[in-house]
Amino acid sequence: MAASLNRLSSSLLAKSRGCLQPRLFHSSASQGPLRQLADEDIELMSSYQPSPLTRLSEEESMMKETVRKFAQEEVSPLVRKMDADGSIDANILQALFDNGFMSIETDPEYGGCGSTFFVANLVIEELAKIDASVSVVCDLQNTLLNTMFRNLGTKEQQDKYLPKLAQEYTGSFCLSEPESGSDAFAMKSTAKKEGSNYIINGSKSWISSAPHSGVFLIMVNAKPEDGYRGITTFIVDKDTPGLSIGKKEDKLGLRASQTASIHFDNLVVPEENILGQFGQGYKYAIQSLNEGRIGIGAQMVGLAQGCIDATVPYLLQRKQFGQRIFDFQAVSHAVAQMATEVECARLLVYNAARLREASMPFVKEAAMAKLYSSEVATRVTSKCVELMGGVGFTKDYPVEKFYRDCKIGTIYEGTSFIQLNTIAKFVGNDYASAAM
Ligand SMILES: Cc1cc2nc3c(=O)[nH]c(=O)nc-3n(C[C@H](O)[C@H](O)[C@H](O)COP(=O)(O)OP(=O)(O)OC[C@H]3O[C@@H](n4cnc5c(N)ncnc54)[C@H](O)[C@@H]3O)c2cc1C
Repeated sequence: MAASLNRLSSSLLAKSRGCLQPRLFHSSASQGPLRQLADEDIELMSSYQPSPLTRLSEEESMMKETVRKFAQEEVSPLVRKMDADGSIDANILQALFDNGFMSIETDPEYGGCGSTFFVANLVIEELAKIDASVSVVCDLQNTLLNTMFRNLGTKEQQDKYLPKLAQEYTGSFCLSEPESGSDAFAMKSTAKKEGSNYIINGSKSWISSAPHSGVFLIMVNAKPEDGYRGITTFIVDKDTPGLSIGKKEDKLGLRASQTASIHFDNLVVPEENILGQFGQGYKYAIQSLNEGRIGIGAQMVGLAQGCIDATVPYLLQRKQFGQRIFDFQAVSHAVAQMATEVECARLLVYNAARLREASMPFVKEAAMAKLYSSEVATRVTSKCVELMGGVGFTKDYPVEKFYRDCKIGTIYEGTSFIQLNTIAKFVGNDYASAAM
């Protein structure tokens, strides 16, 4: 089934290159392009049986169950300590590598699982049910670092870094700067060519995993006179002279995931450490973040579900006015509303992941998934704290941590307003071209 869907989507996409491509399957205006399909495509389409988004393949179910067990048995007992310490337990980090969770799509030749993007999102969701910090470390490794090396790296770069990212160390994605966040391409950090090297100066802020990363993908402007078209991605090893890790942020939530600034002081990087093509860094950043947003959506769905899972048993057990508080209609309706919203968010995330998996257009759907799931996580965690009463406000229960952790979903990998900008652009274009 999956193979036939992939074959169908590749065939459709090959035929729809150019302006028709984003419209396929997405609006009634796709009637036009569909009429151009060849007989074999139509045959494939008619043999394709749609199935529920939440129906998982055997491989997907197995991985989900493996991660669920790992998160409950290994991660759960350490969540409170890791939050207080502001770092992920070294054994947990190692176990993420040992279990293959840090290299879901990486080829087994490089020590990875050779699995799918959808499975990566299931892993992120399951981990976030227990700890959003562990989940984000795994998310960044899979959806940004490994993907960029797999898609853009030379054979030498892949041979060197993919095995290490699968088994040894985390990597960091370095785009944001003190003065350029949402407007990421207004970055000030530069790379200047000298012989066969580049000399990098500047700094990056908010870099996740920086204190324990072995490699950094650094986006800096190597030709400022060309504006954003000078932005280039460099691969930098952690021990390179001129690279230093700055202040670790003291955050509201997601505390075990370490976030720090990094600084470049005449950092010398050889030309062969450019990832992909010179001047294409802006494109790679956009493409990577488009995919990464689905992972953040999965993280927020897992977090919201984990918070409900931690709340409902208490509501079923706690009595007031002689009855279980769950049995007050106001309370059970609040739970029903939360469960419905989480399910909606999950469907958006799964759909975006399945679209990406099938090599179909997914950017609008990814932005919707991230926007909506982070809003749902915000509402659900806040409501769970209220439903638990006073104890929900204490560290004796995990709910207050979910409440603190969720807020990041509306900020990183593009704030909610930035997602709305993306979605609005697609919706506006759809209507504008339908009117022509
Ligand atoms: C915990 C954490 C981890 C992070 N990890 C990484 C990482 O690993 N790598 C990395 O490169 N970055 C990382 N970031 C940075 C993150 O991506 C940025 O914080 C985010 O993109 C927002 O940028 P900013 O903080 O500068 O906010 P700003 O861009 O200053 O935004 C402030 C407000 O203005 C609004 N705004 C800005 N522009 C517009 C607009 N055009 N339309 C409407 N509203 C707008 C925003 O929505 C927001 O509400 C991380 C951040 C945090 C907090």
